[in-house]
Amino acid sequence: MAGENLKNSVNGTKNNASNKSNMIRSALFSLILICLMAMLIVNWTSKGPVKVEVPISEVITRANDPNGDISKITVTGDTLDVTLKGKDQPTETSRKDGSGTLYDQGLINHCEKLEGDELKKCNETYPTIEYKEDINTWGIVLDVGLTVLPIIAIVIFFSWMMKQATAANSQSLSFGKSRAKVYGPDKKKVTFKDVAGNESAKQDLTEIVDFLKNPKKYEKLGAKIPRGVLLAGDPGTGKTLMARAVAGEADVPFFSISGSEFAEMFVGVGASRVRDLFSKAKKNAPSIICIDEIDAVAHKRDARGGAGREDEQTLNQILVEMDGFDNDSGVIVMAATNRVDMLDKALLRPGRFDRHVNVTLPERKDRLEILKVHFKGKPVEANVDLEALAKKTAGSSGADLANIANEAAITAAREGHKAIANADVVEAFERVAIGPERKSKVMNEKERKITAYHEAGHAIVGHVLPDSDPVHKVTIIPRGQTGGVTWFLPPEDRSYKSIYELKDILARAMGGRIAEKLIFGTDAVTTGASSDLKNVAELAKSMIVEEGMGSSTRNLVFPGEDAGYYTITAGKPYSEKTAELIDAEIKKLSDEAAMRAEAVLKLNKKVLDNLAAELLKHETLEEAELEPILKDAKMPTAAKLYK
Ligand code: ADP
Ligand code: MG
Ligand code: ZN
Repeated sequence: MAGENLKNSVNGTKNNASNKSNMIRSALFSLILICLMAMLIVNWTSKGPVKVEVPISEVITRANDPNGDISKITVTGDTLDVTLKGKDQPTETSRKDGSGTLYDQGLINHCEKLEGDELKKCNETYPTIEYKEDINTWGIVLDVGLTVLPIIAIVIFFSWMMKQATAANSQSLSFGKSRAKVYGPDKKKVTFKDVAGNESAKQDLTEIVDFLKNPKKYEKLGAKIPRGVLLAGDPGTGKTLMARAVAGEADVPFFSISGSEFAEMFVGVGASRVRDLFSKAKKNAPSIICIDEIDAVAHKRDARGGAGREDEQTLNQILVEMDGFDNDSGVIVMAATNRVDMLDKALLRPGRFDRHVNVTLPERKDRLEILKVHFKGKPVEANVDLEALAKKTAGSSGADLANIANEAAITAAREGHKAIANADVVEAFERVAIGPERKSKVMNEKERKITAYHEAGHAIVGHVLPDSDPVHKVTIIPRGQTGGVTWFLPPEDRSYKSIYELKDILARAMGGRIAEKLIFGTDAVTTGASSDLKNVAELAKSMIVEEGMGSSTRNLVFPGEDAGYYTITAGKPYSEKTAELIDAEIKKLSDEAAMRAEAVLKLNKKVLDNLAAELLKHETLEEAELEPILKDAKMPTAAKLYK
């Protein structure tokens, strides 16, 4: 894997054949390295103990001193090996410096020409001096070779490792280097075929690919090749996937880094990583740089409590690099974000990320396509209804759908099925939407009864109110954090919701707690409705502050601190009085919802009892089983909306 990365960064368009020969080459290379290193170790260890280097003048002084500690000096060429008295191996070494012979410089052989006992006595006082015929040229060459070659080999080896580490996105040896991943064409290639739906985004990106492949075509007509492309869309909609598909289609090196990676190391590293990333990309042009999740570094620089200095430097460096591109640099910078509104405006100026490609949540048709992509290659039984699943999953992202497909396979395996059955798919869908079923969760009879009325309350209010989606399924089997679930499913995809629909959603969310109150009395308010109430509070708030749906604040919106519009004012961007007004409007919506739910349930007490009883008996009721029970429910005039 790591080796592959390196190759891709050097040459992004290698085919498989040369890839193989590369592998053989690097295997050989490693083998040679290992041999050389072994030789070096043998060579070093065979040379005996390490010798201390001493200045020649000192050696001469000690050699001429009758009380000196040297017993023998072996001179080989310019090198002196010094053996001390009482030792049998040289432990010191020195080099001749200056001109003239060693004798001229004072290294005198005091025992020269002496013989017998005299020689012996002399040798106890003065060192023996032995001149060795050094010029065994081959020996030197071999010696030098044995010492130097392995060192060179090691240096090469380490620099090779460093490169690998950089390419392989390792932190260890590459602080300032960008840890960009390179997706060359021979890494598991993603193409537009793997991206289902999102046709318009794919078309925009196909154009980018064409720019990279045929720049001349555009230059001839005087068209400026785009420098930066911003992929914007909700999480999980396939932005990262699409960026990789561009790399796969374009057949050029693809340097990818995630915004969050910039932030995680030392001060100043982010900017140098950017520099490194861009210089690598330019070297390998035509190429693509992809900065995923760019909002992590490129949020508004002056936002209160926002970007730190480190992020600011990184962002500035990105801007500098993008401005420094020549028109024909052949590098296109792609970035992806879930939060365009958070980005520093400077990034969006012409010449930077001036092309926007919106990646949207999939429509029903696209959801089916995405499901097909992710169920492809999995054994699936004939009864699996992907169309029904696509219909049920309005609002799900591509990632959610991929997750359902995977969960379905896991469920099938757990159940011991040979192929994925429709029941596995349904279970996977509910598991992804709410959480796993928790059959083991203990509920006593009283709790089961409360849950049954609670869910029945949701179902009846939702069924009766005219602008709510139809009830799809009710269950009192605990799942995830909830005691039971009532599912409402839209008959088709819609982009907008009306105020009537939202008010019906608020009322049906209140239906659970109101049913409990009607049956078990005001004192019996349980904690089972807390998530309903939280949903009511959140939806009501967004209706007032974001959608301009307040009765006395109609068409007025109140962008909050986190909306990103306000960067100078501290605290709420509106007065205390306005804050109170907002709170009052939110309360009005929630009171109205409770009132409407209560009106529905009071009028339909019989249906409520019926439905709760059926739920206690069967635990789960599907659309078809709900129909005969709910058909008697009536609409009270008090729950109508006249506005
Ligand atoms: P994002 O970057 O927008 O948050 P990703 O690209 O990481 O989303 O998508 C996550 C996963 O969801 C992908 O790896 C893929 O399996 C799946 N997915 C998302 N959109 C699609 C799509 N249009 N077609 C096929 N799979 C998709
Ligand atoms: Mg992503
Ligand atoms: Zn509830």
